Amino acid sequence: MSDYDIAIVGAGHAGAQAALQLRQLGFAGSIALIGAEDEPPYERPPLSKEYLAGEKDFERMLVRPESVWRERGVALVRGTPIAAVDAKAKRLTAATGERFGYRSMIWAAGGVPRRLGCEGGDLDGVHLVRRKADTDAIRADLPSVARAVVVGGGYIGLETAAVLRKLGKEVVLVEALDRLLARVAGPEISRFYEAEHRARGVDVRLGSTVASIVGASGRVAGVRLQDDSILDAQMVIVGIGVDAAVAPLLAAGAGGGNGVDVDAFCRTSLADVYAVGDCAAHENRFAGGLRIRLESVQNAHDQAATAAKAIIGRPEPYEALPWFWSNQYDLRLQTVGLAIGHDFRVVRGRQQERSFSIIYLRDGRVAALDCVNATRDYVQGRRLIQEGMPVAPELLADASVPLKAL
Ligand SMILES: Cc1cc2nc3c(=O)[nH]c(=O)nc-3n(C[C@H](O)[C@H](O)[C@H](O)COP(=O)(O)OP(=O)(O)OC[C@H]3O[C@@H](n4cnc5c(N)ncnc54)[C@H](O)[C@@H]3O)c2cc1C
Repeated sequence: MSDYDIAIVGAGHAGAQAALQLRQLGFAGSIALIGAEDEPPYERPPLSKEYLAGEKDFERMLVRPESVWRERGVALVRGTPIAAVDAKAKRLTAATGERFGYRSMIWAAGGVPRRLGCEGGDLDGVHLVRRKADTDAIRADLPSVARAVVVGGGYIGLETAAVLRKLGKEVVLVEALDRLLARVAGPEISRFYEAEHRARGVDVRLGSTVASIVGASGRVAGVRLQDDSILDAQMVIVGIGVDAAVAPLLAAGAGGGNGVDVDAFCRTSLADVYAVGDCAAHENRFAGGLRIRLESVQNAHDQAATAAKAIIGRPEPYEALPWFWSNQYDLRLQTVGLAIGHDFRVVRGRQQERSFSIIYLRDGRVAALDCVNATRDYVQGRRLIQEGMPVAPELLADASVPLKAL
């Protein structure tokens, strides 16, 4: 068994940042960064964007060049999924049988993408988009694909559809709800993106669900929808959400359900065990104090810093302002704040000009902005959210007045 002062489970964005932050804060003890994947820590956003399009090399997606982990004295343990946690003995057991002891542990295992549960859901040619290996598999299949079906109208589905169109593939996008991005954005953004995707040739099917995947010789040949119609396709890409990767931690007694519950310092209910990133369910003040999980680079980065500070004895509560981005075609969407529970929306700017913002208000105060090709609003709107001052909607709607003037 190898013993470490700090064992970090999950060598993704949050795990890597936690290790870097600990060293930056002067922590001199031993650190193991234990990951299930074979690659050194890398950034996932390009997997559905530039990397899928073949426009970015993997080397440029690494969180740090590989040599940095050795230089910083971080033991990078790859291909080693942790299967069990003994919180009393402070011991981790990997699926490979390897064991690790820890004094403090940070769980940063991210999320597990949901699969299609229907018949044919595991045929060759049905892909997820979470790991480098997933995008590599899509790229390897692409030369033999004329038509793809993308299941799920969230960010990952839409970004993937945009890249596939750019690569000249026919794309049908199937979404169960009656609008795109329903979970994360208001109806104005949904309608705008629906129109953009349709204008670029994506066949968007709303209120439509997959009944089964039709196969031929073990490979995808089509998709049968609930209404019994069949879409021909040589590839299916599934982007229907993510479940938190927390099973071993919950089995060890940590509180939680959809994610592991953490307090403002990213502490779980288990002694000396912290959780950060996609898998950490925390009370977020920008969501009106609701317990939520955030799946974003911002949250992974900032919670990693929170846990590192708590471990070295300089605790600071997690209060970071959420932000997110999504690139589709020539549209850059930048989101700041959380629209959860908003009671009013303001459209600022003209959607026809493809540069506008939707401003979400809660109790007369700005809760969030979705800015499409409108970086100035995104930058200036942050302060309106942070300061929480009441603002009149008509002032927000007047695009001739910069938000910073308010
Ligand atoms: C295709 C795609 C596009 C995205 N685009 C954006 C974007 O544009 N903007 C944005 O803000 N966010 C985006 N995100 C989200 C962002 O990448 C995640 O929020 C972020 O990576 C979360 O970091 P994490 O460390 O919590 O999880 P991850 O980065 O998923 O890392 C978790 C790691 O833990 C490993 N692991 C899992 N279980 C175990 C185990 N039992 N033992 C050991 N290791 C384990 C996993 O293999 C993984 O390597 C995107 C995500 C994806 C998948």
